[in-house]
Amino acid sequence: MHRVRRRLRNNRLSSDGAFPSTKERPMPTTHPIPPGSEPLQPSFIGLHPELCFAPTWLSRTQRGYTSLTAKEFSGTTCAHRLAVMLLLGPLEGTDMALHRCGNASCHNPFHLYAGGDAENRRDKLLHQGSHPRWGMFGLTRLAGRHHVHMPHPLVLSKEASRLSMNFDNFTPGKCVRSAWLHPTYDGFRQLRATAMSGEVVGAHRKVYTLFNGPLDKYDIVSHACGDPTCLNPFHLFISGRQPCPRDFDVKHDKRFRLSAEGLAMIADFGKGSADIAKELGVHPQTVVSRRANLRRSPNTSW
Ligand SMILES: [Zn+2]
Ligand SMILES: [Zn+2]
Repeated sequence: MHRVRRRLRNNRLSSDGAFPSTKERPMPTTHPIPPGSEPLQPSFIGLHPELCFAPTWLSRTQRGYTSLTAKEFSGTTCAHRLAVMLLLGPLEGTDMALHRCGNASCHNPFHLYAGGDAENRRDKLLHQGSHPRWGMFGLTRLAGRHHVHMPHPLVLSKEASRLSMNFDNFTPGKCVRSAWLHPTYDGFRQLRATAMSGEVVGAHRKVYTLFNGPLDKYDIVSHACGDPTCLNPFHLFISGRQPCPRDFDVKHDKRFRLSAEGLAMIADFGKGSADIAKELGVHPQTVVSRRANLRRSPNTSW
């Protein structure tokens, strides 16, 4: 226990690499930062191998799980599953992303591994038997306007992972690349081979959302290290916003690619939004927001 206590005390305070202070972080400036934008300080607070990582900017189910929108999976995917696929290796067949800490809210890659039903059952028994559940070294860290809860699980499962890769932590001085990810046509990395832009499906954007902070689809995530394939949250920052959200939507979102006929139907306010959405095969919100835009600027070709 003394060894654990000493290690935690040494690691949790600032300048040892695991929790560097903002002032000490290097800020390489070789990246194509959009003109006119000022790079912001990275917001990543660091990971600790023994503490969970559960940020408040992700909304959770009652059981603690959280999901991220993933266009390449046509919906949402659990945060801890994404963390495994992004940082530990691809999940296939019956592979499950499992928690060594038994904390559904956590997506610290140190606490995740790939297993199956049998491992999942054994882990459940293990964590049911650990009393008290949490140790005394947990932390809550401020991250911008949010917090990251980092409780200290007393017991971590020692089950073997189906993936051979061990997570090597994020440190400010070293880029992180995952060789199994697919390239996007514009030089980023993605979880599945798609024809979509890194601005939409980029693995770095998912890493940002998991570890740095909330991300809007129009936010531009840049790499302070200059390597668009890097997934190190210490190197990621929001450098600005898409200058023209509508152009961005038209380019990347098929819901916004409507025919002239479809646009005319929307512009004719005689018919209900829900009926038109059904007829055009788009989400009702698409029709509602286009109509709102039309009301605001009737002469603009929305
Ligand atoms: Zn954990
Ligand atoms: Zn990097």
